[in-house]
Amino acid sequence: MGWPGGSWQSTATLAGTITAFYLAALWLTIVIWTNRDIRARTHEIAAHTLATVGILVTGFVGLPLYLILRPRTTLADSEARQLEDAALYAEIGAAPACDACDNAIEPDFLVCPHCANPLRGPCHACKRPLRHGWIACPYCAVAVTHAPRRATASRPTTSAPLDSTVSRLSALASDLGLPNEEPREPRRRP
Ligand SMILES: [Zn+2]
Ligand SMILES: [Zn+2]
Repeated sequence: MGWPGGSWQSTATLAGTITAFYLAALWLTIVIWTNRDIRARTHEIAAHTLATVGILVTGFVGLPLYLILRPRTTLADSEARQLEDAALYAEIGAAPACDACDNAIEPDFLVCPHCANPLRGPCHACKRPLRHGWIACPYCAVAVTHAPRRATASRPTTSAPLDSTVSRLSALASDLGLPNEEPREPRRRP
């Protein structure tokens, strides 16, 4: 008759056998895939066992349930997100702030734009601007002898905020070597 294998029955048997092997291989594959997938998503051994045995027993029927119920993110994703968050928080924590009003400032600001607190004063040796709190000049290696006006700057403004701002700016200007006509109010000359 020309049927491969001799008769249509044996052909059907062969096709059935191939299909059965294929389905068995597919079944085994999704069991292995599920095991890998659940281990990438949780460290809990009970969840590994439940998912793997569940798919082993139910096969293609249980797979959609597993895909719905599995943990949404993989462990690698959540670790990456934690690292991102940690980096972000470190960046926020390291952002420089005005020590008088606590607003964010840029590292090269000379004066706080929010409260006019002088942020940097000149090195007495090389005249380059130094940040408050530095105890040595990083440019010429001279020790900073006086902490420039941090006490004055962090004192709260009492009566006239504009006068206080003007006196702070003129003090900063004279420290930076700029011409300054008005004598500073808070400091008395000997
Ligand atoms: Zn400020
Ligand atoms: Zn210096």
